[in-house]
This record gives sequence, structure tokens and C-alpha cells, in this order.
Amino acid sequence: MSTFSPTLFSGKRFAVVGLGKNGLPAALALRAMGAEVVAWDDNPASRAAPELAASSGTGSLDVRDPASRPFVFDALVLSPGIPHHLPKPHPIAALAIEAGVPIISDVELLFQAVRASGSRARFVGITGTNGKSTTTALLAHILECAERPAAAGANLGPAALSLPLLPDDGIYVLEMSSYMLERLATVRFDAAVMLNLSADHLDRHGSMAGYAMAKRAVFNRQQTGDLAVIGIDDPGSRTMEKWLATRPAQVVRISGLHRPLETGSALPGKHNAQNATAATAVARFLGVDDEIIAAGLYTYPGLPHRQQRIATIEGITFINDSKATNAEATERALVCYDRMIWIAGGMAKEGGIDPLWHLFHRVVRVLLIGRDATILAETLTRMAIPFDVVGTLETAVPAALAAAKAENASVVLLSPACASWDQFTGYDQRGDRFAELVRGLDRSADAQDHDAGAA
Ligand code: ADP
Repeated sequence: MSTFSPTLFSGKRFAVVGLGKNGLPAALALRAMGAEVVAWDDNPASRAAPELAASSGTGSLDVRDPASRPFVFDALVLSPGIPHHLPKPHPIAALAIEAGVPIISDVELLFQAVRASGSRARFVGITGTNGKSTTTALLAHILECAERPAAAGANLGPAALSLPLLPDDGIYVLEMSSYMLERLATVRFDAAVMLNLSADHLDRHGSMAGYAMAKRAVFNRQQTGDLAVIGIDDPGSRTMEKWLATRPAQVVRISGLHRPLETGSALPGKHNAQNATAATAVARFLGVDDEIIAAGLYTYPGLPHRQQRIATIEGITFINDSKATNAEATERALVCYDRMIWIAGGMAKEGGIDPLWHLFHRVVRVLLIGRDATILAETLTRMAIPFDVVGTLETAVPAALAAAKAENASVVLLSPACASWDQFTGYDQRGDRFAELVRGLDRSADAQDHDAGAA
């Protein structure tokens, strides 16, 4: 592994907008490759990042400043979280569109940088509504078991432009969000995976059809000899499968109903069978032996916040599934346990928890947190499921332990079915806080045991 040449992008000029977990590394990497970079974030604190101060490009990206025009750049690198179309284009994106400047993602630049460096390293793109991170991390783990030079990241992190330059036999394994896929120009994935489709992010894509089109882009520019892996467990994916059949790449259809090889305990449920099947198909395409794939599936350690076991306190197991930000993801967890106390809530997605009604019989009591507790409460009232609106995780965790003891439940599951932005910086902060609170309970339970023993 090596780094990119400091003159790779000499003479190029980029605007980088949104200096978060993708944008800041992109701005720094592009500068390190010799490009002129003008960086911007609407938040002045992010603009003031000390790493950026050393070598800023000339020009302004403040749209109120006449010096921001004309908008002359080779490309605008726009953070995935910032819209260029729906619900409303960011003013800088609008300037770029007016000036005919392409809007691209950091993954596009990684691909261009790798090819401009003369490396023929292969690219794997993984998308879908749910299971992207698991499939990406699992494939990376299998490649590590196979001792292949690989680098995994993009949406999952690290950011695309933080990844190293890989040699010809290297493999980039990239988790692709629909927002990143919308902003590709030349990337061709040697192997592309589309796991499943369900309603999500419709504010940005306008409709289910718009969302499906964005996801489908993972297969754009594929050629004969490339691999297209497609889920067939939902109607949207099946429609895409029909379109794929008319394209040149070799198509492998995957279903969670057929588990290919044994997996370890970090991959429970049918949904993980789908992820494991997808990772297996790509690993085989990349020439990894079945024996090594099997070992990888077995030893995969799992990712935090996805049905992650935190602790068992007085016989009650606490599970952190904070990553489940929509009803479909929560469904995967609800099917795995009986007699549970379920902590849910946050910023509800369209339809709330209505689609989960058929699993409510597994739930003894629901504790609701976050902004949209009343929306979720309405569904639970209608279905006559006991619940309490507790507001915060700080209240929910001890209340869950008490409820589990009182009602003889064996599992406390945090699987919010909602976004976290009302109370947290993201699902990871929400899950970390849950784990911290549970560990706090665990310590006090230990201390009580100890006191009881001493008495
Ligand atoms: P993503 O990166 O696409 O958000 P993750 O791998 O992080 O997906 O999984 C998030 C949640 O989605 C998991 O906790 C699980 O509940 C659910 N999930 C994972 N894989 C699948 C799948 N193949 N189909 C449906 N749901 C899934």
C-alpha cells in the first residue's frame, strides 16, 4: 500500500462543500494530491478546522459574496448529506448546476486518483436499504482472511479519500449510499451489490422510483466480465433484476432464504443470510477459496450497534440495535427475540412502526423516547400494546430493567425504528449512550450483589 503522488491533481481546482466525515478528509487528500481546494461549510466552526488553515485555495464559496462568482471549478465535491436537488438544492449546488460544474462524490475522486496513478485495483460497490455496512465489513473480513490487499470504507468509514493507493491486485470494498451513487461520473464497479429496497430517504429522492434509480446506479458502466449481485426478496429489487438481465454483467441473484455456508454468531437471522450470501458471491468472483470464505463467515466479529449484545444483568440481556433507523431494520431484530422490553422512538420515518404490528405479540412493553413518541404511541394504543412515554434513554434504561423484572422478560432491545437526530449526533452516539447506561446498571447490580454478600 502506498500514498498518492503529490502532483497527481496539479492544475485541478475543486470546491469541497460540507466539511464533515467525508468532506474534511476529501479536502485534505485533494490538497495532498496537488489540487487547489476551496473548502466550505455553512457552519463557521467546521470552516475553521485547523487542519484546513495551512493551505487554502483562493476564492470564496460564500454565496452572499460576489467573489463566489463566476463559479469556476473542475468539480464540486458535495457531502452526501447536502442535497443538490430535493428537497431543495443547497445554494452552492445551485451555482454549480448553473455554471455546468459537475457535482461528484469523494468515491468518484478516489476512483479517478487510483486510475490516474496507473493502478488496476478492483472496485466493489455495495448498496441497498439495509445490510450495506454488514456486507461491506464481512467481505473486508473475508479478504483479510485470504490475505488479499484490500481497503474498505466510504459510507461506513473511513472516508473514500482516506483510503490508501492499492496495487493492481488490490480491492476496494466500498459501502455506497444512494447519495454517493447519485454523484458518480466514471466509476465502474468490477463487482456491484444491491441487497434490498424499502422506503427510505424519500425526501431526497422524490419517490420510490427515484430512490430505486439512485440505487441502480451502482451497476452503471459495468461491462462483460463484471459481477452484478442482486437481492430478489422484495418487489423493488426484483424489478431491478429484470433490468439487470438486459445488461452485460454476469448476474447472481441472492435471497435470505438460502443460507450458503455456516455463519458465526455475529450474523443472526435471515437478513444476515442475505448479507452472507452477497459477500460470498463477491468473494468467489474475486477468486477466494470456499474454505477461506467459510472461515471468514464463521470468524466475522460483527459491527457495533447492529443487534450487539451489551450485557446480561440479572438474567436479562440488553441488546443495542441503534442502527435500526427504520421499521424494516427493526423488524429483523424483533423476529429474533420473545418476551422483550422494546425501547423505540426518535424521528419517525414514513409509516412509523405500523408495518411491525404482526410482531407486537413478542413485546411485553414498549418504552418510547424522542420527538415522535406520540406518533408511535398512537399505533401502540390502537394495537393495545402496553407502553410508557419515557422521553430519554437515561430514563428508559433503568425503567426497562425494572419492567423486565416485573414482567418476566428476558431481553431489553433498543431498536428505535427512527432516526436519532432529535437527541443525538447519530445512531452511533445513541447506541454508545445506551451501552454506557447499561454498563452503569451492570456495575450497580454488581455492587448490590457485593453488598448483599457482605451483609
Ligand atoms: P446499512 O449499512 O445498510 O444501514 P447495516 O449492515 O448497518 O445496514 O444493518 C443495519 C440494520 O439493518 C441491522 O441492524 C439489521 O437490523 C438490518 N439489516 C441488516 N442486513 C439486512 C438485510 N440484508 N435485509 C434487511 N435488513 C437488514
